[in-house]
Amino acid sequence: MSTFPSATIVGYPRIGPDRELKRALESYWAGKSERDQLQSAAARLRLQSYERLSDLGLSTVEAAIPASFSYYDQVLDVTALLGAIPERFRDFDIEPLDLYFALARGHQGAAALEMTKWFNTNYHYLVPEIDAHTPISLTHNAPLDLYREAKEAGITVRPTLVGPVTYLLLAKGIDGYNPLDRLDDVIDVYAEVLHQLYAAGVPWVQLDEPGVTSDNLGITTEELQNVLLHAYRRLTSGKRPSILVTTPYGEAVSAIETLSETDVEAIHVDLVHGTQPQTWGNKVLVAGIVNGRNIWRADLSGALSRLASLPGEVSVASSTSLQHVPYDASRENWESEDLALWTAFADQKVAEIVTLARGLDEGRDAVSAELALADAAHKRRHEAPGVSVKAIREATAAVTQADRERAPYSLRADAQAQRFSLPAIPTTTIGSFPQTPQIRQARALHAKGELNEDQYRARLEDEIRSVIALQEKLGLDVLVHGEPERNDMVQYFAENLEGFTTTKHGWVQSYGSRCTRPSVLWGDVSRSAPITVSWSTFAQSLTDKPVKGMLTGPVTILAWSFVREDLPLGEVADQVGLALREEVGDLESAGIGIIQVDEPALRELLPLRLEDQQEYLEWSIGSFRLATSGVRPDTQIHTHLCYSEFGDVISAIDDLNADVTSLEAARSHMEVLPELAATGFDRGIGPGVYDIHSPQIPTEEQITELLALAAEAVPAQRLWSNPDCGLKTRTYQEVIPSLENLVRATATVRAQL
Ligand code: GLN
Ligand code: ZN
Repeated sequence: MSTFPSATIVGYPRIGPDRELKRALESYWAGKSERDQLQSAAARLRLQSYERLSDLGLSTVEAAIPASFSYYDQVLDVTALLGAIPERFRDFDIEPLDLYFALARGHQGAAALEMTKWFNTNYHYLVPEIDAHTPISLTHNAPLDLYREAKEAGITVRPTLVGPVTYLLLAKGIDGYNPLDRLDDVIDVYAEVLHQLYAAGVPWVQLDEPGVTSDNLGITTEELQNVLLHAYRRLTSGKRPSILVTTPYGEAVSAIETLSETDVEAIHVDLVHGTQPQTWGNKVLVAGIVNGRNIWRADLSGALSRLASLPGEVSVASSTSLQHVPYDASRENWESEDLALWTAFADQKVAEIVTLARGLDEGRDAVSAELALADAAHKRRHEAPGVSVKAIREATAAVTQADRERAPYSLRADAQAQRFSLPAIPTTTIGSFPQTPQIRQARALHAKGELNEDQYRARLEDEIRSVIALQEKLGLDVLVHGEPERNDMVQYFAENLEGFTTTKHGWVQSYGSRCTRPSVLWGDVSRSAPITVSWSTFAQSLTDKPVKGMLTGPVTILAWSFVREDLPLGEVADQVGLALREEVGDLESAGIGIIQVDEPALRELLPLRLEDQQEYLEWSIGSFRLATSGVRPDTQIHTHLCYSEFGDVISAIDDLNADVTSLEAARSHMEVLPELAATGFDRGIGPGVYDIHSPQIPTEEQITELLALAAEAVPAQRLWSNPDCGLKTRTYQEVIPSLENLVRATATVRAQL
């Protein structure tokens, strides 16, 4: 076995510091550039990353740098490697790279692979589809190409792949098929890949097995042990490079014990989100001690003590791939020196890892300057203004259960029915209307100072006027203002609340070429002035129909931000909850009778271990209720959830205690309704009647059929008719006919009542 490097990372961002890969991909997809242009842009990016990591101190000789590049997604990379192509794609006569993109994006009527969230992150992977007949054999050893490419540049990288067990655990079995039944076929391919890597002189390979940290993948601990043992005994039996298995995102104690009984040479443990195992045999322990999920400077001193207490051969690493954080915090123009001092993006984290490895090797004194700087940053953080605000701490401490309760639903339902006199199956939308190029342009001009506050506002009011007029013309029952003032449903609130900041270059890949720029929640959160009230009241002044107020809920604000770690998440959530509660109160006082508080990320933050889920649900639901329970019985609270199988949080939907809940449901054919009814849910429900993620315009018949299906599961007095999600990514050409069909279909179903 070659020695394992003393410092490494599990993975590095790949979209490019200036989103170079995004641009290269989108230009290629749009037919504006050739395949070889895309390929050379990707190659440039890879080599730049390796050089950068080398400059930061990762060894280019000892395979410290993972070859974690992907054109789109690391799970899709394995699907391509295995040739595990679903039948609907098999007849296309296209180049392998185009087939790869076809799987991700759909092609000539063949629907793309489903996309879903990767563990408890906001990164999405493409779900493999596996059944008894899925072809599984080695197509092209892409990891070997990456190795050779780097080698030519004088760098020894570590080929990196999602491991076989996690790959199959994340796969969807067709018609109830268990993808793990294909484990041996998959292992055959991995073994062949490893053999070829070995022949090419690769010293180390990395297999990522985060699947072992989750209880949500339908496998018992015992089954998992058997599968792991079987897989890694087989994989280690042939000629192969030394193997590192990673277990990022959570607790993996029993899996690590099992792996230690196999012949793998190194095991990674996530010491930030997981638990330190008792034993890992005689393996190299790759200690994931620097948080790969958040952007705060590490407590180097504490980390070094902890590392020093670990027996055996220890290598210092990130807890997860750094793909979840932006590249370089030193590029930001932070609004305070404190923020510059407190933050660490991927590059700063690599430097921290290198420092820790040096400290471990040479002793504390060798890194005393770095430790002192980190200590000073942490000390400063306790004292800095805004980090702990007395009035905010007192307000959250004074919250009682009564603040999270409303009048009984029956009473609310009567009061609301009287106030709004809506027809059966009211029609509405989820909030946003298309973000047109004109809106984006106005926002850009405003940011550059070329449109002043009044001019910008006038443009947005024009937009709201036209959105309201359109909804009246369409005949919708409950209107929205369309959210033109929001760049993003979280960032907009972050920009308007105390305790947050935003970044300029802090892009993180969400899926494929799509990136988000999470906000940074660094201090105590409060609201210094109303945020949405003037937009909602302006919209309401234009129509006699009710206009829904529109807010993002506390859990989603937390999920899509980088959140401070010096305060329990539940308390941070309550701070946001209280700020939103003030906003809800102001909307109510201003005459807005229906207020929607979106929580699309409720499922995302659900802990991976069953034993942690109850506590999470308590604080997350508690914060939503804190935000929404301060209103009169005749004020109607809506919420909206999407992006998930709701399976694991289905009973939580009832606990949110909203009067009306809209859910993504069109793609799963309303399956969620009986499941929801079984939890005792008996309030208003708006199952999405068409899929807004597709550019296809739903026909009146399709919507009628889905809505009629819904009307069988839910009494008409409680049923609402709405799309699956917000419309901001669609065009008016798509939205207008779709909503026309929605209104007509609803009339048809109403007439049959
Ligand atoms: N109100 C938001 C919108 O319509 C909800 C978005 C979401 O669910 N992700 O855009
Ligand atoms: Zn949604």
